[in-house]
Amino acid sequence: MKKNLFSFRLAFAILLFYPFFLKAEPDSGMTPKKALQQLMNGNGRYIIDKLEHPNRTLERRQSLSAKQEPFAIIIGCSDSRVSPEIVFDQGLGDLFVVRIAGNVLGPIELSSAQYSAEYLHSSLIFVLGHENCGAVNAVLNHQTKDIEPIAKNIETAIHNNKINFSNNALENAIKANVRWVVQELRKNELIANLIKEKKIEVVGGYYHLDTGKVELCCDIQ
Ligand SMILES: [Zn+2]
Repeated sequence: MKKNLFSFRLAFAILLFYPFFLKAEPDSGMTPKKALQQLMNGNGRYIIDKLEHPNRTLERRQSLSAKQEPFAIIIGCSDSRVSPEIVFDQGLGDLFVVRIAGNVLGPIELSSAQYSAEYLHSSLIFVLGHENCGAVNAVLNHQTKDIEPIAKNIETAIHNNKINFSNNALENAIKANVRWVVQELRKNELIANLIKEKKIEVVGGYYHLDTGKVELCCDIQ
């Protein structure tokens, strides 16, 4: 009888403290695959106009006041039509967003992504290009006078990827730019190590302005 009581108390103690053991684990069960699925599910809801607006309550806000663990990093364009929390239907504390015209990757953008990857334990970096990107279009049309630092990054991306200019030159250039940023991120030492440990993955996508669809792209090996 006494033995049974001891077993019961032990089981109760384990149950009581189990959540604390779980909390000690920084990634709390999130994986690159699950993170990508969560984004694509949200985009699916957005496409058919069935938004859930998750994680936007007062409780969520207060639970994040001491710390954040965004499951994904988005490197996206500043374009007003491509807001990551909206197109992926996510909420507070879900996404660590780096937004810059042309979704380029300079030293500042890279260090922002590294910060979230290393210290906030994000499981995915999603590079999000989009249809009719004005910054990429400006580069193709040699109208880069006012966006020189951004244009330089895009030019490098385009020159380092074989682009078909005869058909859909703008779309091809936008996708080449996404591909370049993904490749550069994967080459980064810190991120490469996290990939090796299966803690993070880097993918690229192309957003369609009219349908709202985020298509995984862009011939990334
Ligand atoms: Zn853009």
